[in-house]
Amino acid sequence: MQRVAGSIVVGSGIPDMTIGEVVLVGKDELFGEVVRLTGGSFTAQVYESTGGVGPGEKILRTRKKLVAELGPGMLNRIYDGVARDLESLFKEKGTFIQRGAKVSTLRRNVEWEFKPSVPRGSEVAEGDVLGTVQETSILLHRVLVPPGVGGRVSRIDQGSFRVDETVAVIEREGREYRASLMQEWPVKVPRPIGEGARLALDTPLITGQRVIDTFYPISKGGAAAIPGGFGTGKTVILQQIAKWADADVIVYVGCGERGNEMCEVLTEFPRLVDPKKGKPLMERTILVANTSNMPVAAREASIYMGATMAEYYRDQGYDVALMADSTSRWAEALREVSGRLEELPVEQGFPAYLPDRVAEFYERAGRMVVLGKPERKGSVTMIGAVSPPGGDFNEPVTIATLRLAGVFWALDPELAFSRHFPAINWLKSYSLYSGPLLTTFTESFGSYSEYAKVFEWWNELSSRYPEYRSKALELLNAAASIESIARVIGESALPDDQQMILLAAEMLKEGFLRQFAFSEVDAYCEPRRQVLLLKMILDFHTSAMKLVKRKVPIDIIRELQQVPLVMRAKENPGNVEYIVRLMEETQEALEKVARSYGFSTKEAE
Ligand code: ADP
Repeated sequence: MQRVAGSIVVGSGIPDMTIGEVVLVGKDELFGEVVRLTGGSFTAQVYESTGGVGPGEKILRTRKKLVAELGPGMLNRIYDGVARDLESLFKEKGTFIQRGAKVSTLRRNVEWEFKPSVPRGSEVAEGDVLGTVQETSILLHRVLVPPGVGGRVSRIDQGSFRVDETVAVIEREGREYRASLMQEWPVKVPRPIGEGARLALDTPLITGQRVIDTFYPISKGGAAAIPGGFGTGKTVILQQIAKWADADVIVYVGCGERGNEMCEVLTEFPRLVDPKKGKPLMERTILVANTSNMPVAAREASIYMGATMAEYYRDQGYDVALMADSTSRWAEALREVSGRLEELPVEQGFPAYLPDRVAEFYERAGRMVVLGKPERKGSVTMIGAVSPPGGDFNEPVTIATLRLAGVFWALDPELAFSRHFPAINWLKSYSLYSGPLLTTFTESFGSYSEYAKVFEWWNELSSRYPEYRSKALELLNAAASIESIARVIGESALPDDQQMILLAAEMLKEGFLRQFAFSEVDAYCEPRRQVLLLKMILDFHTSAMKLVKRKVPIDIIRELQQVPLVMRAKENPGNVEYIVRLMEETQEALEKVARSYGFSTKEAE
């Protein structure tokens, strides 16, 4: 070794070294990766602290790229940035991770019950399901023929196996491939998919968060960016999605965030139970924890590790959601390493390849027919928090991210400050997927035939939902401009119809958009409830507006006892019948007022 600068070491004397090769540095054999070749020398970034390492020490080559070990046993685990199993590290090495500690991703001492899916003698190709292992009580792990492998299965065994034992032998042209439960994949290379395999992004990832599902939905296989300054609620949103989204597998990468925040995730997640399945949520979750006090270079690795793990479960035919908190910390790691490599910085010190790296990451999202038989579909949805310095969205990482993400949840410090959470600004956010997704989102309502028999409007709900959504957004938009006038002349000086719009917008904000993550009832709001809450508020507005037009004073409407009830209906633990009843009561109350003025809300306008 010739030189050490932070996480960067420079060495020479190893012929035909390649970019991306993993090297082991110094007597502790610190884990690093070659990032540059110049003449006879090479530069490597080290994923562990290089303190005390000096020139003259040895660098060993491995002839391997940075790979992820993939196989059963990843769910319900917590890893560091280079996918070392933290619990095993703790057991073997104690509280403080020693440098150079070698701990694998998959535990070698665990046995799994393997059930073959193909008979001996069958022909298999890459991606085919060789057999299955019940990984957790909720996930059946499909053991796949690795990419690039294929041939005739000359042996396949049922029974208990450790991940590194041979379960099948695949032969092609006299060469044998010994398949085990595990496989490796270089983390920076997307796992292959077939040509034309990508599917339309038309299936919503239901998160149970109203402002997301109804207004700015994300599709399975889509990519979303959540930029927001400190304290605007990025982490809480990611955690809400990780807890509630209807994905089969969650990969949560905590990248460069403060240790205590990650600690909350690490202590909270293992206790959570999936309300729908009654099983611990960790049984579908992988946590990759790479906090700000861990080496900078490993942040980069943690993002790619997460993406590779996500693709691996996608290839098995699952819907995976990958959460990264925060991609800014990752970009800062890129900047730091680039600075040490003395590369020419572009904007704010970031290297010129920043947008390419961000693109490479988000392009790993998608919904597709995955390789192999039997035919299966899988998806990777990517949700990245971005923490722009000072909350200014006009900075390189936010800009690069927005170019790629189909969904933008703009976190607003003013909303966060007034404790309106989630602080997703309903006027500045967008979702490129909202059209087709809303239709799918509401399709399920038709199946509640018991309601359809009782309420004649039920059958129309799904087809009318896009209309409700646009109406709500129009109202919120109108209210925003009226508010700016009201700030000057005072609300009471506004004409009644404008005050009515403000009241309806208030009901939307309080009764629909605002959703407390720590509420027992409202942390998750099922689609049916979302639709009914929105319908209740909008129907109220429509009927109340008729009263206003007939000169009923706005105060009479504002003071109806149903108004606060509508705003609090989201917190009512009763089932949807409660909302339906309240909806009817609200309409009756308005009708009663109308009658006292000698008309009916049901009259045509
Ligand atoms: P960030 O990651 O953007 O720095 P956090 O996600 O840690 O911000 O949120 C900061 C605080 O805001 C949380 O500790 C919590 O009190 C509050 N908060 C954020 N989102 C919600 C929510 N949906 N419901 C209730 N409180 C929230």
